[in-house]
Amino acid sequence: MIDISKQTVSINCPECKRSITVSLKQVADEVTVKCNCGQGIKLTDNKGSAKKSIRDLNKSFKDLENTFKNLGR
Ligand SMILES: [Zn+2]
Repeated sequence: MIDISKQTVSINCPECKRSITVSLKQVADEVTVKCNCGQGIKLTDNKGSAKKSIRDLNKSFKDLENTFKNLGR
């Protein structure tokens, strides 16, 4: 079972422009991540879109999984 919330996205540190990898779940939870330069970055889930993506995609994968199960019959 694929868990989409474990998928990662890259963001850029506003301070040093280094790219930081965060998981979709961290974005959905709006956690604060810390860059190597010491800068804290508060993740924001714009209009709850990360949460929605996780929900929608997990549902899609579940449907897909069921489709494969049915094919195996
Ligand atoms: Zn940085």
